[in-house]
Amino acid sequence: MQAPQLNRWLAPLITFIFPAKCRRCETPMSVGQVHYLCDTCWEQIEFLEPPWCQICGLPRWGAICADCREHPPLFRKLRAVAFYEPTLREAIHLMKYERKQVISKHLIQLVQAHLPRDFASTDYDFLLPIPLHTNRLHQRGFNQAEQIAQGIAQVWGVPVRTDMLVRIKDTAPLSSLPSHEDRVKNITGAFEIRSPDLIQSRKILLIDDIFTTGTTINEAVQILRVAAPEYIDVLTLTRTRPSI
Ligand SMILES: [Zn+2]
Ligand SMILES: [Zn+2]
Repeated sequence: MQAPQLNRWLAPLITFIFPAKCRRCETPMSVGQVHYLCDTCWEQIEFLEPPWCQICGLPRWGAICADCREHPPLFRKLRAVAFYEPTLREAIHLMKYERKQVISKHLIQLVQAHLPRDFASTDYDFLLPIPLHTNRLHQRGFNQAEQIAQGIAQVWGVPVRTDMLVRIKDTAPLSSLPSHEDRVKNITGAFEIRSPDLIQSRKILLIDDIFTTGTTINEAVQILRVAAPEYIDVLTLTRTRPSI
């Protein structure tokens, strides 16, 4: 019965003697700092700000960038809160694979504070998080895209629907598939829509944690479009920088 008491004294003492190091820059962090990443690293996050391409949301020249003109995407608009840099890479790893709830909360607050200025609650009938396969969901215990969607729902009051888009294929993690062809093959047929009549003519905001090559988002958008929504916009916490 002594152990919990002892831990209550020992934990701060150990933190004081052996301060935790920032996961990114390895700077020792002060006592009481619980975010695994130091303030300096958090401050280095690069948020995406306008002016940006009205479609893909990248800071590029022109109202609609050359890429979007030449290859119009299947979604109407895409925005990401910040670029995928080392701080966010560490933070997402801590959230997804180490289940650090304090990091999840912090990332959700980050999204809530940086919702794209040209997106509004009135633009959407509901928010659709990119679903995980049930196997992955049981393994991880939560869907990070759904957590982000719930965070946005708190601010906007727009409902989150998890029953319309489901993942029927237990796909391999994208990071294990270096080639574009393998990624496309892996994700093809991964999603299925339920209640297409509830999607028809609706305004949808699709939500995910990371946008990299776009294969997952594009597959989801493609399948949703079968049910003829009015439009589909996309919002992600982060996106990789495009190769120029
Ligand atoms: Zn740091
Ligand atoms: Zn563009």
